This record gives sequence, C-alpha cells and structure tokens, in this order.
Amino acid sequence: MTPDNATTANCGICAIIDRIKAGNFHDHIAELPGCYVILGDRQYYRGYCVLLSKIHATELYLMTAEDARVLFDEVRLVAEAIAAVVTPWKMNYECLGNSEPHVHWHLLPRYETDELRRGPIWMRAESEQKVSLEENDRLALIASLRTEIAARCSRAIVK
Ligand SMILES: [Zn+2]
Repeated sequence: MTPDNATTANCGICAIIDRIKAGNFHDHIAELPGCYVILGDRQYYRGYCVLLSKIHATELYLMTAEDARVLFDEVRLVAEAIAAVVTPWKMNYECLGNSEPHVHWHLLPRYETDELRRGPIWMRAESEQKVSLEENDRLALIASLRTEIAARCSRAIVK
C-alpha cells in the first residue's frame, strides 16, 4: 500500500480529505490504511457511510491491484461494522465517481420498512434521502461505528 498523501486541486473528495487531516470535518469516523470513513449525509439510510480512498485515482482499474484489494478489504470490514450497529435488511455498495473523479465507496444499509428497498437507492428523491440526525444521535452513531470498526481493524485510527 502506497497511499499518495498529496491531495489534488479541484477534487471535492481531496478537499474533504484535507479537511479531515486538518481536524475540520465533523462527520469523520475513522482512518484506515487505505481510506477515510465518513458518515454520509443521506441518513434516511441510517448508518450510511462513505469510504474515501487515500489515493486520488479516477477508476479502480487505475489503482494497483494491491491498493484496490486493500481498499476492498476495508469496504468489507466497514460494511460488517455498520451492520453490527444498525442490523439492516441488506447492505448496498456503490462505487460511482461520476460527480467526483476520485474512487470512493458508498455503503448504504437498506431497511425492510423502505417500500423502495428492492431498487437502487437513487430511486428515492434526494430530498427524502438527506435526513440529518439529531446531534446526540449522530454522535452516538459515530461512536458505535468507531467501536465496531476498531474491533475489526487493529490499524484503524478512530478519534
Ligand atoms: Zn481526489
């Protein structure tokens, strides 16, 4: 794993990473060897997290196979950690990069109560997805996710 610690100008995800490094991103959950984990802004899907690759690559296939594998192992363990906290009906995984040209994974817990659960999350209006959590709830959710991530990755930095 050879993370490129230099962030790239004009990339929204590199900008978030710069804020995380500066301690200025309040939804930061954990740093893993290959990525940063943040709480997403669509908490209609409670527990929704995004993994931001430490490497500014526009496509998975432009990363080395080893770097992509490290990232995928982290996707898998963070998904398991999220599931331990929110016990979803199903976990959805999306790696798109159409808006921001930097590999990132969306981990989206789906729930039985969602009448659109058999389709992709994007079927639901964005305004309905963008639910903010009450502050104490948000902090408690982040704390629980940190505990479950740390239990699965000894190299996780959770602070
Ligand atoms: Zn970037």
